[in-house]
Amino acid sequence: MSVVDKREENSASVRVRFAPSPTGHLHIGGARTALYNWLFARRHRGVFVLRLEDTDLERSTEEAVRQIIDSLRWLGLDWDEGPEVEGGFGPYRQTERAGLYRRAAERLIAEEKAFYCYCLPEELEAERTRARAAGRPVVYQGRCRGLSEADAQKLKDEGHRPAIRLKTPTAGKTVVHDIIRGAVEFDNAQLGDFILVRSSGTPTYNFAAAVDDASMKITHVIRGDDHLPNTPRQLLLMEALDLEPPKYAHLPLILGPDRSPLSKRHGDVSVDEFRSRGFLPEALRNYLALLGWSLDDKTTFFSTEDLVGKFSLERVGCTAAVFDTGKLVWMNGHYIRNMDERRLAGQIEDYVKRTRLAGLPGKAGRPRVPELTPLVQEKMKTLADFVILTDFFFLPVNFEEKALARLKSAERAVEILKATAEILSSLPVFDAESLEVSLRAAASRMSVKVGKFLEPVRIAVSGKAVTPGMFETLSVLGREKSVNRIKAAQQLLQSPGSNQD
Ligand code: GLU
Repeated sequence: MSVVDKREENSASVRVRFAPSPTGHLHIGGARTALYNWLFARRHRGVFVLRLEDTDLERSTEEAVRQIIDSLRWLGLDWDEGPEVEGGFGPYRQTERAGLYRRAAERLIAEEKAFYCYCLPEELEAERTRARAAGRPVVYQGRCRGLSEADAQKLKDEGHRPAIRLKTPTAGKTVVHDIIRGAVEFDNAQLGDFILVRSSGTPTYNFAAAVDDASMKITHVIRGDDHLPNTPRQLLLMEALDLEPPKYAHLPLILGPDRSPLSKRHGDVSVDEFRSRGFLPEALRNYLALLGWSLDDKTTFFSTEDLVGKFSLERVGCTAAVFDTGKLVWMNGHYIRNMDERRLAGQIEDYVKRTRLAGLPGKAGRPRVPELTPLVQEKMKTLADFVILTDFFFLPVNFEEKALARLKSAERAVEILKATAEILSSLPVFDAESLEVSLRAAASRMSVKVGKFLEPVRIAVSGKAVTPGMFETLSVLGREKSVNRIKAAQQLLQSPGSNQD
């Protein structure tokens, strides 16, 4: 058994965390990180922690906190500890944990593992410029590391506010034993004495994350591999603080179709946008699970229980995954077609309400979503398709250009519409079966194929060339609306200017 297996086996006390910075919507990459953490926690009956890394006061907003929480809830990724749930290792917002970071920094100073740095931003910038010009790596040169107490006191008395930096080893290597990538080595000399606390008093990401991961007893840090360069710093910090480090698993990057890192340039990238476009959380979960992980080369569909049962970090690959919206749409269509009809109707109702689409179904006298759902379920790929396929039930007919041209050129259209209006007006029971029997009979009397017969009827009542089955459509639309629309189309064809004879 490999080292990785042994690590994963020890599942009794698994604690993982998702630690977003609330500076914007939850991005697809963040959602995948959250999902993998959640799956790993559920798989090992462990604890999934949500921690808000909101120390960047300028960029963090309450609105982003709300959106991230909403998106995670919608995706079904519930946390066991974190905002709105709390737990034994809180608070779960970094801005509320300032005391913890301050005490850790004071301890490092007292133990001479960290030092005050009085360098001014301009001085540091000049140092960086010199390094770049000389082709040297941009690393802090350690000017304040050896500052005498008297010099430090003088600068303090002059009112300078220092930052705090870690005394990073100047030689040797720090090795990250990554579950996915194996051993990754970093030269300590390249890390430099990095900042723990800014002169403004706020902790840096590396400092706060290291203190929190250790103090929250996180066992596995699962995050995007853009954070890999931060990991040696976090390990050095934990060592300096005598804290037990977690294990690390860095997930491969997600790319857009052009193979550059997935970003806003590629279109929709936030969970919220996918929700608004009518994707189902279970389809998005399934799709995201496969963006870096696979069970084998053939299984595509996984229920969430399957994923919980089968997910392992061992089967996460190292190579970047390409985000393919077409595949997601296809997968979503599969979930819609296979969904229980009543559940789908419920999802559509929520979706329509949330997106406040025009022609909101459900007003008195209008067909309701549950009646329409079976008519369009097979054709829908997203919940938004419901609206596209059924808008004519709620809104006045708005002819598609192509459909109108077809209506105008259809053979014997006036005659067909006239016969249909008569049948529909006099049918004793206005349901799909009776409509089918009588309209088929009419087509046969006129020696017209049923498909041809129904074409002008379809366009007359919907304005579209493609609709759900005509008999069901007419029955749900109702006698009055159907007849009125058919008569209106008949008039349109007979009015001067129409190219019908
Ligand atoms: N706040 C960091 C981010 O949103 C979290 C990184 C980590 O998981 O350590 O990228």
